[in-house]
Amino acid sequence: MIATGIDHLARSKRNQFTAVRLNREVELRDDAEWVAAALCDQQTRLVPLWRSRSLLEHNTSGSLAIYLSPDELGQPDRIQPPTLLGTDGKHDYFAVSVTDEQKDNILERFPNALFTNLRRASIDMAAKHAGILAYAKALHYWQHRHAFCGVCGNPNLLRSAGHRMVCSNEECSRETFPRIDPAIIVLVTHENACLLGRNVRWNPGHFSTLAGFVEPGESLEDAVVREVYEEVSVQLADIRYVSSQPWPFPASTMCGFYAEAVSRNFGVSEEVQEARWFTVESLTSALKDDVVRLSPPVSIAFRLLADWFRQNGGGDLEQLVRDQRKAAAVGRLKQQ
Ligand SMILES: [Zn+2]
Repeated sequence: MIATGIDHLARSKRNQFTAVRLNREVELRDDAEWVAAALCDQQTRLVPLWRSRSLLEHNTSGSLAIYLSPDELGQPDRIQPPTLLGTDGKHDYFAVSVTDEQKDNILERFPNALFTNLRRASIDMAAKHAGILAYAKALHYWQHRHAFCGVCGNPNLLRSAGHRMVCSNEECSRETFPRIDPAIIVLVTHENACLLGRNVRWNPGHFSTLAGFVEPGESLEDAVVREVYEEVSVQLADIRYVSSQPWPFPASTMCGFYAEAVSRNFGVSEEVQEARWFTVESLTSALKDDVVRLSPPVSIAFRLLADWFRQNGGGDLEQLVRDQRKAAAVGRLKQQ
């Protein structure tokens, strides 16, 4: 159906947030001496997170990740010690939670920077740095939501340089590891058309691929079949895995599929209240007329759609969306 001519690893590497390319230095996570020395080394790069937001600066070439040296941060938070991310051969990277006071000091030092939502800011960001920030954000989210043991309720203690937690109650000593919630995302096609839906929570005109969480007792493919039927009552004839993407918003891995529908009959549901079949031509017109808005290009939803669009003769979907945004911005200026 969709032959991109590259293997799954190469396909996944094209997705935003996958380009971390750090050696994760797993063997050093329990070496307290090495970790302490690395945290005093001014070549070390700290990735600050404040309330799950990443530190970025915007300039004419896009969004830049701001990293700190240990001296620039000062004393790390003792309750949430820094988390070792890995090395790129030049620098060791650690994620650090910053307090409100540290946040104020950092923003004073970097007046053009701000702590912001990575999902939106990563649209025009270099892939390596978007990947590092996403990796840091995922661990930060897990650490802050597992502060207490799920069995006995005592505080958890961070171990293995932030990658493992152990219950502080010695009789319990339960270990907790970072968790990821797998979700499937699927572009349903039928011959020369694809089916996009509008979630009830989205603005009018916003359409995307169908998606949902994998439930216990399901394979990824089972989840594709169930979600598509639940959301739009479509039966599938053929399901193909395409690629995956870390999606720390807040804690998922997105598993992307193409699926061919048995027919173009569909219904809607409480969750997906509107769905439409689009051909390359009708999607192009809808974007040019600004009556349809798509998910941002950093998402695997957009990647699945963009590859389908190109392979069906539609050309560069990203450029089309950029043109749409520019035209909409010009329109708004004219109205002012
Ligand atoms: Zn416990």
